[in-house]
Amino acid sequence: MRSLPVIIAGGGIGGLAAALALARKGVGSIVLERSAELGEIGAGIQIGPNAFHCFDSLGVGDEARAKAVYIDSLRLMDAVNGEAIAVIPLEEAFRKRFRNPYAVVHRADLHGVLLDACRASDSIDLRTSHAVTGYDQDGSSVRVRCEGRDSLAGRALIGADGLRSVIRQQLVGDGEPRVSGHTTYRSVIPTEQMPEDLRWNAATLWAGPKCHIVHYPLKGWQLFNLVVTYHNDVKEAVAGKPVARSEVERGFEHITPRARQIIEHGKDWKLWVLCDRDPILDWVDGRVALLGDAAHPMLQYFAQGACMAMEDAVCLGHMIGHHDDIETALDRYMRQRRVRTARVQLDSRLIGEYIYHPSGAAAEVRNHVMSRLTPDEWYDRLAWLYGGTGLDA
Ligand SMILES: Cc1cc2nc3c(=O)[nH]c(=O)nc-3n(C[C@H](O)[C@H](O)[C@H](O)COP(=O)(O)OP(=O)(O)OC[C@H]3O[C@@H](n4cnc5c(N)ncnc54)[C@H](O)[C@@H]3O)c2cc1C
Repeated sequence: MRSLPVIIAGGGIGGLAAALALARKGVGSIVLERSAELGEIGAGIQIGPNAFHCFDSLGVGDEARAKAVYIDSLRLMDAVNGEAIAVIPLEEAFRKRFRNPYAVVHRADLHGVLLDACRASDSIDLRTSHAVTGYDQDGSSVRVRCEGRDSLAGRALIGADGLRSVIRQQLVGDGEPRVSGHTTYRSVIPTEQMPEDLRWNAATLWAGPKCHIVHYPLKGWQLFNLVVTYHNDVKEAVAGKPVARSEVERGFEHITPRARQIIEHGKDWKLWVLCDRDPILDWVDGRVALLGDAAHPMLQYFAQGACMAMEDAVCLGHMIGHHDDIETALDRYMRQRRVRTARVQLDSRLIGEYIYHPSGAAAEVRNHVMSRLTPDEWYDRLAWLYGGTGLDA
């Protein structure tokens, strides 16, 4: 059964990275994507040095580096008094410590780099309009069911089908994701519309009571990415719904006008109600494994969901390359990845509560602690995350 391809459900960042990682080990794959076209939404994404290690492992380091904007700091601002709490430099000392930069990139560009590499590979078969509905396996192969189509046989199945993964529903069966009650609104604006005094070469976070704003430059400084989030305790999950600016502004009336004014410049706002899941220890069933958001969906507060999906892909390729027995390879992959990804899931919730959204005394404690850290102390605290490559637990 070694000659059968690995089937990958989902052609997002995780699924394409997995196909590339397998191709690098001489393993063929079929990527089944539900949508009629492969693509990503028009927003930005932050990529830590750990993701750059992955780009190199996947053979797309130069292409990814060419698309990135290299910010020079992570800037944490108090959204109530308008003052800087901390500025973490990302220049030479950071790059030396983590052997790679921290950058921001347009999602479509990042996805496009992976997609181009997949299209250039003879070992990867990309199929759109293929909605996977489930699987059966018999110890020697797996049959993957697709809506309105014949089933496909594979050596293994990787469920990279995102937050509402159907593969996870069969494998784990833990129902709908947890609705966090945090509503995120996204917009992208031309740089000339960004208030001039805020055009920082930084990923900037304005942290306020039950709300925050994130902005950073994109696409060679042509655009600014805006992500503003309001903890309004909504109960229903929503994804990508267009909303009026007045609705976005409602959650930010209590913060400094200097930060609030950013929202006025946004256009075509869309909203997402953020969801995650509790970490689980088992996401493999024989020849079937989960990857990326399907395995460990997290809140975005560490800006690491896509980075973790790429790390998963690198680790999966490594294990399949090292173990002839596919079930052993998938089991080793999951064991290697589960503690690290669970830590990012849990810590993302914690930093949402204690860094992004606190008020009163808790906000004072945040400011007191974080404003006193030196760059080296910041790097020490982040080393477990940014020093990773996908192959470390
Ligand atoms: C507001 C916000 C900001 C974020 N910022 C960052 C950041 O700065 N840095 C970072 O690293 N991460 C960030 N993330 C997280 C990141 O976007 C996700 O973790 C990442 O996109 C997950 O990739 P994935 O491939 O696992 O899943 P997805 O991107 O969800 O891809 C899943 C794919 O599977 C397809 N699919 C679904 N069901 C089926 C099916 N049944 N059959 C076939 N195909 C199917 C989908 O169409 C999709 O193409 C952010 C998330 C949010 C919400």
